[in-house]
Order: sequence, then C-alpha cells, then structure tokens
Amino acid sequence: MLDYDGTLAPFHIDRFAASPYPGVEDRLAVLSGLPRVHLVLVSGRSARELRGLLRPATEAEIWGSHGRERLKCDGSYKLFALDPEQQATLERVAEQMAALGFSETLEVKPTSLAVHWRSFEPAVQEQIRSLIQSVFAQLGEPDDLHLLPFDGGLELRSTDRTKGTAVEQILALEPATLPVAYLGDDLTDEDAFAAIGDRGFSILARTEVRESFARFWLRPPEELLEFLDQWIAAARSQSPATIESAGASR
Ligand SMILES: [Mg+2]
Repeated sequence: MLDYDGTLAPFHIDRFAASPYPGVEDRLAVLSGLPRVHLVLVSGRSARELRGLLRPATEAEIWGSHGRERLKCDGSYKLFALDPEQQATLERVAEQMAALGFSETLEVKPTSLAVHWRSFEPAVQEQIRSLIQSVFAQLGEPDDLHLLPFDGGLELRSTDRTKGTAVEQILALEPATLPVAYLGDDLTDEDAFAAIGDRGFSILARTEVRESFARFWLRPPEELLEFLDQWIAAARSQSPATIESAGASR
C-alpha cells in the first residue's frame, strides 16, 4: 500500500504535474504484474485523478479521497458519500473562498475541499488559514466536518473515514499471513500507520524523520527505489521475509 504525493512523487506546485521519481513507474508496472502482489495506492487525491497520473499498464487498486473512494483494477468504483448537509457545507465554503479571491488555491474533491498554499509566502499562508477558518466558523463548524492540516495546506473533510479505514478494509480481504506494508509521508498517513499496527510494515517515506506511528523510515528516492526492488525480489522469490531488510529501522 502506497501513498502517492510526497511518497512516490515529489511535490509540485501544479498537482497534475506531480510525476513519480525516475524509476518508480517502471517498478510499479513490474509489481502490479506479479501474481503474489496486490498493489494498492491510498491517497487524498480523488481516485480517478490519481488513476490518470499512473501508467495505463500499472494495475493498481486505488483508494482515493482519504478512504472515501475505491477504484478497482477492473474499473469498478465505489464512493462512500458524505451526507447531503456535509456536502452542502463543503460547497458553501468553496463558494465563499472563491468569492474572497482564493479560487486558485482550492481543490474541490468528491468528498472534501482542500486549500493549497505551498506556493505562497508564510504571511499569505497565514491569511488563507485565517480566512478559511473564519468562513467555516461562520457556517457553524458542523461537528462532523473538520479542517485538518496536510503538508501544504488545510483540508475540510469528514473523519468518519480515513486512510486508516481504507487500510482496515484492504487488510480484511487478505489472508492474515500475507506480508503487508504501507508507505506514506504526510500527517494523513498516520491513520494508516496506526491501522496497520503490528500487522505489517509501516514506513515513513520522507526526507526528514518526524514523530510518527510508523515503525520504519526511509528517504525517497534512493531508499524508496531500493525498497521497491527488494519488494519485487521478495515477491518473485516467494521469500516475503526479505522485505524486512528494506527500510531503515527508526
Ligand atoms: Mg503524501
């Protein structure tokens, strides 16, 4: 299980231009073709947007929108929708932020609203933060929606499903003996790290280490490529224990 942005692909101001590190796509294509591998991407992006960033040959199941969308390899799709009041709140916040002149910072997703400020100076970031907080407050801050930080902005979303929910559902369908790993970089991946617990390898993939539920840490891209190579080798050799040697212990 792999997060995309920041884990497989370096951040890019234009999110549609965020391509994986060189060498990653080749390895994903190989992995997805191995019979013993179930490749899953778990992202905050919408599932279909992420599908469009992958090579057509890469057969990956995609959980998008922080566990609210599941797009299987055969194209079947399931949306875990918000209730209508939550959806209406998202739309009103988006309208008001656009009216205040910040439409270019908004990413309207199927079940959430992200405001991106990576490209702005800290003072402007703080201005955007204050604005969306006050817009949300004026709408009464319904307690089933939350403004949550990610690496590069804030996202208004419900937390009754998270990346951790996705991990739980993915694992529930797999045999208990199957080796599993989750790689992620962001605060939103902490739910997934917590969900995987002792069941598998939780790996923080990030240049700088930080406090995390993840049990391991690696630095992309070099150690990421090494990990993917060892994953491929382990799956080919039917010797899953060798996966353990990839990823530096924290
Ligand atoms: Mg990420």
